[in-house]
Amino acid sequence: MKDWKTSAAELYDGSFRPMFIGGNWVEARSGQTMNATNPADGSLLATVPQGDAADIDAAVAAARKTFEGPWAKWTPFERQALLLRIAERFEAEWEDLCLSDTLDMGMPIQRTLGNSRRVLGMLRFYAGQAVSIHGQTIPNSFPGEIYSSTMREPIGVVGAIIPWNAPIAGSVWKIAPAIATGCTVVLKPSEEASLTVLMIARLMQEAGLPEGVLNIVTGTGAEAGAALAEHPGVDKIVFTGSTATGQAIARAATGNLKRVSLELGGKSPVIVCRDADMDKAVPVAAMSVFANSGQICIAGSRLFVAREIHDEFVQRVADYAAGLKIGHGVDPDTDIGPIISARQAERIQGYLSAGPAEGAEIVTGGGRATGTGLDEGHFFHPTVFGGVTDEMSIAREEIFGPVISALPFDTLDEVVTRANATPYGLAAGIFTTHLGTAHKLANRIKAGSVWVNMYHAIDPAVPFGGVKMSGYGREGGTEHMEEYLDTKAIWINAD
Ligand code: NAD
Repeated sequence: MKDWKTSAAELYDGSFRPMFIGGNWVEARSGQTMNATNPADGSLLATVPQGDAADIDAAVAAARKTFEGPWAKWTPFERQALLLRIAERFEAEWEDLCLSDTLDMGMPIQRTLGNSRRVLGMLRFYAGQAVSIHGQTIPNSFPGEIYSSTMREPIGVVGAIIPWNAPIAGSVWKIAPAIATGCTVVLKPSEEASLTVLMIARLMQEAGLPEGVLNIVTGTGAEAGAALAEHPGVDKIVFTGSTATGQAIARAATGNLKRVSLELGGKSPVIVCRDADMDKAVPVAAMSVFANSGQICIAGSRLFVAREIHDEFVQRVADYAAGLKIGHGVDPDTDIGPIISARQAERIQGYLSAGPAEGAEIVTGGGRATGTGLDEGHFFHPTVFGGVTDEMSIAREEIFGPVISALPFDTLDEVVTRANATPYGLAAGIFTTHLGTAHKLANRIKAGSVWVNMYHAIDPAVPFGGVKMSGYGREGGTEHMEEYLDTKAIWINAD
């Protein structure tokens, strides 16, 4: 087996990593830098430019020039071939890409490696989509006199802003459909995790990506992110992150009425019916939250369990959680890695204190994990709260940490009402062996994705996104192509 720790030292040595604008690897115009640190132990991995509005201006100008220049002449077949070459390049460097993510944001290596099918699939799926863009010939009210048809055109310069919790999938899901449609991109990664996105740009460049098609500006949300969201030269913003930031971005976009799609937070329900197959449901319900230490937008953090089986089920989830191994992401046995930052750790700690203060009972976990190798990072025991009521903050607010709130229910009507009583609507899980119950619940739960007897499945070909305050617009599937295309109607007078 690969020695991930040795490879880690070789991958990042604390040196400066430039950002990528117009095909060039550059510093910030201000000369400012920021540190990229390993959340497992606080060690310095690299420094990166702290780009601001001036760098965003340069990146948008490069993206515009390419969009209106040479890129517009690329045929769909050439863009398809490029995406396939990028997929090959990624496949060849997959272990380094995954290791980079593990070092930069803490996700356990076994999980980053496991994401390959989805990310390589995204590139290959959108390679197929590149040659499937077409308009329509539409019969109108003047047959034989006037002909009308539509054509699909790339929307232009796309501004992409992503969070830190899944940099590989998060960035590729925004870049691949842009290449497929013929758009250009300015991408701002999270200040907490920029390194893998810079590696992705290098691999794409090596695969033959023309200059200016993808531009990466590293920097903070307040400076680079806000400048991108309000930039008049940007035609579309695709954003993944918190609901509060999504609202700020939607407001900033009104200046030039650029189109916006938002993938935001959630407080997703997992509903375990009394006829559920417990052996199968326990690990899936647990990992619906504990995967990536709970730092997942779709975390099934409200665990509704039928009262008849509630105590037994919750105890089994707690036992499963207690058996998960906490440690550095580079250890292949690690299930639960570190939390990204001191700020996030404080937030989680706040909820771990609020739960008992509001009357919840800790079934397992409840605090930080300390000891050899854990004290320099921010590690938490996976936590299950019992005795939770719908009004408690742990049952209402997104925690973005390894915390499950278990809630008993009596009837299906009741659980539907309670599961939907949230401003969010990102995802939901249902566990039942009764086909009718599965359909009834799946139909009535308000969410962008509903999984039955499973969780977490995301596929390049299947649309993903939220309803209500979990956002609007879809990533994945042919729906994502629509996000990056405009429709032009063409009328021809035949007289
Ligand atoms: P965040 O909103 O703080 O930051 C996300 C990105 O926005 C970062 O790149 C940040 O620099 C940037 N940003 C911050 N303020 C900005 C501003 N005013 N203008 C423009 N950009 C700005 O989110 P986070 O803490 O990095 O990530 C966690 C959140 O992301 C959670 O709420 C989680 O649910 C959500 N998320 C959603 C999905 C999804 O697909 N729905 C996926 C992953 C994460």
